[in-house]
Amino acid sequence: MNKLFRSFTVRLTLWYALLFCISALVAFVGIYFLISSEIQSRTDEYLQKQVDEIARIYQLQDIATAITIARLQAEAAGEKRAFFRMFYRTGVVFASANLSQWGQVGMNRTAAAILVSGAPHFLETRHLPGPGSQRQVRIIYRRIGADIILQWGVSLDEEFALLASFKRVFLTVMVVLLAGAMAVGAFMARRAMSGVEKIARTARRITQNDLDARVPVGRRGDEIDELAVTINQMLDRIQSLVANIRRMNDNIAHDLRSPITRIRGLAEVTLARAHAGQRKQGNVSTPAGQSYLDEFVHMAASTIEECDRLLDMISTMLTISRTESGVEHLDRKPVDLWVTAKQACELFQPVAEDRGIELIMQPENVAGIVNGNEKMLQRMIANLLDNALKYTDCGGKVIVGLSVDSVPGMVCLTVTDTGSGIEDRDLPHIFERFYRADQTRGTSGAGLGLSLALAVARVHGGRIEVKSKPGRGSTFKVILPTI
Ligand code: ADP
Repeated sequence: MNKLFRSFTVRLTLWYALLFCISALVAFVGIYFLISSEIQSRTDEYLQKQVDEIARIYQLQDIATAITIARLQAEAAGEKRAFFRMFYRTGVVFASANLSQWGQVGMNRTAAAILVSGAPHFLETRHLPGPGSQRQVRIIYRRIGADIILQWGVSLDEEFALLASFKRVFLTVMVVLLAGAMAVGAFMARRAMSGVEKIARTARRITQNDLDARVPVGRRGDEIDELAVTINQMLDRIQSLVANIRRMNDNIAHDLRSPITRIRGLAEVTLARAHAGQRKQGNVSTPAGQSYLDEFVHMAASTIEECDRLLDMISTMLTISRTESGVEHLDRKPVDLWVTAKQACELFQPVAEDRGIELIMQPENVAGIVNGNEKMLQRMIANLLDNALKYTDCGGKVIVGLSVDSVPGMVCLTVTDTGSGIEDRDLPHIFERFYRADQTRGTSGAGLGLSLALAVARVHGGRIEVKSKPGRGSTFKVILPTI
């Protein structure tokens, strides 16, 4: 639910609907008040005209004619719609319409007083008494003679019915319009956001190390297309920079290989000569000369060892680069991942025993045949096993297992250890070249094992996931597509 509301499209749609609701409501309230005030002024106009006419008849003729005309007009309007009363200033009624419907609407003494003080007329709205009655009546008072006051009332039922039906129609139209507005809003928001989604998809692909990905550019030429073009230009630039850096790295690694090989060769020749010299001289050599020679032998041996390490590092770096760039042609064939893992475990068993670690293979329960390069896959598994054993203390356990992934057609090879685990801050970096967590810097290694393992998994269309708890151990999960 929370995720739904975080979606910009949903939020935009809701904002659009809310804005529409508020504007429609403001319009409704405005129109409602306009109509009701218009109705009131028309009613007042009607009442005014009515009493003015009766007053004129009274002035031109007599009271009897005025009463007759007033009765006729009240009857014509309808007994339920209008009524009148004529009364003296004292409050004594001397003429009226049929008051069967209006008996409870009395006379307002204040009105009489106000009229006597000189006001031309007096208007008021009164509720019709009765249980739960919502009915209202508009009443006018006018002096038609020195001592005679005319009260004329008209029911507001029709006006209320009109306003009620206006409310009903408005609400129905509102619901329909709101549904329409939401649909239009959703359509417009989706259309506006579709470009952003495309950009996000591309960004995700790039995060997964696909620097070749580009944002598709539409033909609308709008802001989103402009953004896509700019992002693509930026990606071109980043890609060329990354390619330059990689090329430079590879060149350095390549160029370092020859001098190191030469140094190693020289050290090897020196060591061979020294051994030969020692044999020839036998016990003739002086003790001082012997120790001098021993030092040289030792230095040559160390030089060879260090050169081997450097050459190994350089060759791993070049293998990673070639694998990642896809330059290296891989001979592929169906490889049984379980058999490869088993062979690797057998190979590492003596190392595990040496370190007092239990290396277990879970029983096979799924088939994991991968179309891949056996040597590369062996190296990948060996790197994971080497790490698991390297970072687990004596008495710990390393478990290797094969299982099916939640995605059909994928198989998972897991290497779990009960070792040192990896800190959260190191976790995002362990697959980077030469990255080594601080706490493991004392152990042997160059920080290239996992980079190579990941490059191998990727070149086989897979990935590696890792879960780890510091002090409790880690699980590396290689997910690969099966045949
Ligand atoms: P290294 O040669 O240092 O092992 P890797 O690339 O194989 O290089 O691993 C990078 C870093 O990831 C290691 O230095 C270590 O800190 C951490 N790491 C890898 N595997 C494990 C593991 N099973 N347990 C704990 N830490 C590990």
